[in-house]
Amino acid sequence: MTMEKRSFDTLIVGAGGGGLRAALQLSQADARVAVVSKVFPTRSHTVAAQGGVNAALANVSPDNWHWHMFDTVKGSDYLGDQDAIEYMCRAAPRAVYELEHFGVPFSRLDSGKIYQRAFGGQSRNFGGEQAVRTCAAADRTGHAILHSLYQQNIRARTHFFDEYFAVDLVQNQQGYFLGAVAMDIASGEPILIEAKTTILATGGVGQLFRTNTNALVNTGDGMAMALRAGIPLQDMEFFQFHPTGIAGKGMLITEGARGEGGYLLNGDGERFMERYAPNARDLASRDVVSRAIATEVREGRGVGPNGDHVLLKLDHLGSDIVKKRLPGIRDMVMTFLHIDPAETPIPVYPTAHYTMGGIPTNRHGQVVVPVQQGAEEPVPGLYAVGECACVSVHGANRLGGNSLLDILVFGRAAANHVIRHLKEQRYHQPLPEDASEPAMQRLARWNREGKGESIAGLRIALAKTMEEHCGVFRNQDVLREGQEKVLALRERLAEAYIDDHSQVFNTARIEAMELENLVDTALATVSSALAREESRGAHSRIDFPERDDQHWLKHSLFSLEDLKMDYKPVRIKPLTVESFPPKKRTY
Ligand SMILES: Cc1cc2nc3c(=O)[nH]c(=O)nc-3n(C[C@H](O)[C@H](O)[C@H](O)COP(=O)(O)OP(=O)(O)OC[C@H]3O[C@@H](n4cnc5c(N)ncnc54)[C@H](O)[C@@H]3O)c2cc1C
Repeated sequence: MTMEKRSFDTLIVGAGGGGLRAALQLSQADARVAVVSKVFPTRSHTVAAQGGVNAALANVSPDNWHWHMFDTVKGSDYLGDQDAIEYMCRAAPRAVYELEHFGVPFSRLDSGKIYQRAFGGQSRNFGGEQAVRTCAAADRTGHAILHSLYQQNIRARTHFFDEYFAVDLVQNQQGYFLGAVAMDIASGEPILIEAKTTILATGGVGQLFRTNTNALVNTGDGMAMALRAGIPLQDMEFFQFHPTGIAGKGMLITEGARGEGGYLLNGDGERFMERYAPNARDLASRDVVSRAIATEVREGRGVGPNGDHVLLKLDHLGSDIVKKRLPGIRDMVMTFLHIDPAETPIPVYPTAHYTMGGIPTNRHGQVVVPVQQGAEEPVPGLYAVGECACVSVHGANRLGGNSLLDILVFGRAAANHVIRHLKEQRYHQPLPEDASEPAMQRLARWNREGKGESIAGLRIALAKTMEEHCGVFRNQDVLREGQEKVLALRERLAEAYIDDHSQVFNTARIEAMELENLVDTALATVSSALAREESRGAHSRIDFPERDDQHWLKHSLFSLEDLKMDYKPVRIKPLTVESFPPKKRTY
């Protein structure tokens, strides 16, 4: 079969904030850049980010990047790599000012400076009073950022392959990554996009769980492509459950709602966070608040006929604040619950939100793999940025507002590294004839006619399994059973077919390939969770309730082959300042 082939300096898979920030940097440096996205770029999940992006601008309260760094290290439950965290927090103010110059319409203070709001886990002076650090464009910050970045990319002449689905990476015999095979969703035709460097920016994998805040397209495709190419995934047991999803539905109510002064109530009308986090209360770190809500409900202090949620109270803020600072939240709650949050509290429960783990990288965005005891090496030609990557700035728990920052800072850093690399790499490396074979086999596999289980049914079964077996609280028996169920689903998927090729042909093939990706990332998640016998950040084991720094202050690495677990040390040493050694974490 002959296949269309195109060549670029750099291929970026993913047009969310991470991919577009990298693309802009590269296009502005006159590199030839292709961006592939399975949805139109401005529909990437970044568009849904509400609350804002952290930077120590000190527009509202005194602040500096070193305090931001401390909060991030503590928020990560000391599993974050401190060199990358220092790099990110120092770069934050510049990243935000750059956005301002790209045209992002930030909300403003009366002084005209960028508006900042309080978010969870942020403090002044290394654990003191609440800091006000999150820069916001009302409650539509991601929308503003993504649209501005897209427009700037159009201006810089980035080449877009809109609505193309990347199937698999291609590499040569030396293990050098040289682009990817993608499918044009409209026509079903494959295309080989050859590149000197490839950046994965495919976002997170929230679709692993039934109740989640993520876009339907967040199916972990880049992570699974890396796994299939023999690259292990890092820290996948750490999945963030956001405390305030709309109960039973999962849509996100931004932490900014509590930042503006909202608070949680249980069935007894009690502000229960005072018991769990006496200082930070409702603005404790997300893992802490999610566990508190789940515990209140489990112990019979929930709200509603089934006692299965708690309430988020905003009505005391006054309708002016709600309309001005949280207009999108108000719209959403009125649409889905038919109540006005400026008058009636919102029923909420934790919902799957953010993938802390991902493709291991260094702070230049280069994908790295272990070579021997503790040492690691960059994989030639391959980079990863954004939520699909694990750099690792979020460690065991991400702070709200740090993910938009992560995608901007490391999108830019990876692009700068690629620009240096391209100067030395003037010509394309030869691509072996059979390089696209694995991708073509996957495409052909979902072209076969036959009768089997429905893909949609298997996807629901997977999401339910993950919710029941890998949720907020975990233990060995439940996780082991979860792992067995995921393995069984994997076998069932191998026997499944798309039985009606005449109907929704290409989209059905994509759903099948997405499910393959989901199953492999589910396996990484549940296996890593089973292996880690401690509680740290978002990973909470009832059978191992304490953090165990002696045995577990290390990153996990899951490989698809034999479901092997490996570990590597945390980079405790920052770039210029002193380390923050692990301490007991209270809020
Ligand atoms: C509802 C919500 C609110 C949030 N609010 C905040 C916030 O206020 N502050 C904050 O810091 N963080 C927030 N986050 C987190 C943050 O928005 C995300 O982590 C971040 O935007 C991810 O950006 P990304 O570029 O990595 O990926 P995404 O924006 O998810 O983009 C992924 C891209 O990859 C493409 N893609 C994926 N697979 C393929 C494939 N196989 N082929 C081709 N293309 C592919 C998609 O088309 C898309 O373009 C929020 C997240 C959610 C879900």
